Amino acid sequence: MSQKGTINVAVENIFPLIKKFLYSDHEIFLRELVSNATDATLKLKHLARIGEANVELGDQQIEIKIDKEAKTLSIIDRGIGMTEDEVQKYINEVAFSGAEEFLEKYKDTAQDSGIIGHFGLGFYSAFMVADKVEIITKSFKDEPAVHWTCDGSPQYTLEKADKTEFGTEIVLHISEDETEFLEDHRITELLNKYNKFMPVPIKFGTRTETLPKPEDAKEEDPAPTQEVDNIINNPDPAWTKQPADLEDQDYKNFYRELYPMQFEEPLFHIHLNVDYPFNLTGILFFPKMTGDLNIQKDRIQLYQNQVFVTDNVEGIVPEFLTMLRGVIDSPDIPLNVSRSYLQADGAVKKISSYITRKVADKLKSLFNNDREGFEKKWNDIKLVIEYGMLSEEKFFEKADAFALYPTVNDTFFTWNELIEKVGELQKDKDGKTVLLYASNKEEQDSYITAAHEKGYEVLLLDSPIVSHLMQKLETSKENISFARVDADHIDNLIKKEENTVSKLNEEEQEQLKTAVSDVIASTNYNVQVEAMSSDAAPFMITQPEFMRRMKE
Ligand code: ADP
Ligand code: MG
Repeated sequence: MSQKGTINVAVENIFPLIKKFLYSDHEIFLRELVSNATDATLKLKHLARIGEANVELGDQQIEIKIDKEAKTLSIIDRGIGMTEDEVQKYINEVAFSGAEEFLEKYKDTAQDSGIIGHFGLGFYSAFMVADKVEIITKSFKDEPAVHWTCDGSPQYTLEKADKTEFGTEIVLHISEDETEFLEDHRITELLNKYNKFMPVPIKFGTRTETLPKPEDAKEEDPAPTQEVDNIINNPDPAWTKQPADLEDQDYKNFYRELYPMQFEEPLFHIHLNVDYPFNLTGILFFPKMTGDLNIQKDRIQLYQNQVFVTDNVEGIVPEFLTMLRGVIDSPDIPLNVSRSYLQADGAVKKISSYITRKVADKLKSLFNNDREGFEKKWNDIKLVIEYGMLSEEKFFEKADAFALYPTVNDTFFTWNELIEKVGELQKDKDGKTVLLYASNKEEQDSYITAAHEKGYEVLLLDSPIVSHLMQKLETSKENISFARVDADHIDNLIKKEENTVSKLNEEEQEQLKTAVSDVIASTNYNVQVEAMSSDAAPFMITQPEFMRRMKE
């Protein structure tokens, strides 16, 4: 048998198009071919399980091999393989997805089989880096092996091969200007990026493993070593497991696996796990966060059936959560479409609001189960929470259950506790509750003392977005307003019984007021000579709250 034929595509020659436009990133060819090898392996596993393939599966790993002299890169699997007819159908008809066909055919049993392919174009991405591609394949069905060769023109050759074991070998003859893909370190890099958590073990070369010394070894004896397969992936990453099967330490280990260079431990994790009305798994981590808003945003990785897709999750995850780290895996996110389309997509919107809800629920339960621990973490997580309250209405509503308002004395109030505590005492003449806050404990110290003397609570609100949050609270909550502790209308609050007597008489008070007013010579400030009992200042300079905010 030896035959020639023309690849069946509507366009006269699709290869220049594929090379140029199919994917902007040439490197993803490896992801596509390893995905196909993985699919082939999982398909065979599935057929064996349901009794449609009577084969000894053996050690089902995928192997990647570089031959520098021949200038080839090979991807070898022990999967389902292809018969001659199947090569005709799946390879020679561009854009016919065998993966979709398989899922359609076995839809009752194969929903959870983890099959990756979708579009029926992945295989041809090989031509982005190779000017000749060979497929040597033998089906698990008892049929002869075949050898397909194509040099990047629509003409291919198909002949018999002498492969005896089932499975497929794809050989890429790497083109002159893509020789980086013949370098070990480059391939290692790509496998680590795209295939690190794929479900079938992937072997790339060997590595030297150090064994424990035998008991009778002398101290100067070197530890024995052995060559073992270099498996680059973890086929069972934590996010694919049930939360009930994982300990806290497992999550920490997974964090380390994801971010080997990150030495700080995450504050806590959220395990996402939903299969209706869409499929989504994942683990999000709250890293320690400081006041810096210019945080790198590409920290959550998006996977599809354990294949890395992107670390740009904009449009899929609500923006305030892009400050988190971790993994999201969903076959239901349309990937080969533009970001603006994504944002309008109904499924994506649902996913986004599900994630928001899960994060809010987790924060609530952390707060309820261990309030003290939650208060300790507040400074490191407040930025995400405050940002979320500002940008997502749903999150704002839920946040009353866990958002904290700390005082300068490190007492932490929830919103309701705060209003209960100060509601009556800190009312102004219009009946509004005025919430006093400081933004800098040292600088505003004397004002804080003065407010405390009147029995008022002073919050410490110092995050970079807190002025926006206050505005949001003022418009959303009934009858409250915020005033910085050095703002003038603190004086308008209905006071506790005055029981302190001024050390100055009225005339002296007037003189002091005039003197200070002359010195600061500004109409933007008010000078008040106060009756104070303690070591707080004998007079205060205050500024209307609206003027201060205008300057911000
Ligand atoms: P998709 O994966 O989206 O179906 P591809 O272009 O990546 O599209 O592959 C087309 C088809 O070729 C696959 O669906 C599969 O039937 C077949 N195929 C590709 N690679 C292999 C392989 N390594 N083993 C068996 N079949 C394969
Ligand atoms: Mg594919």
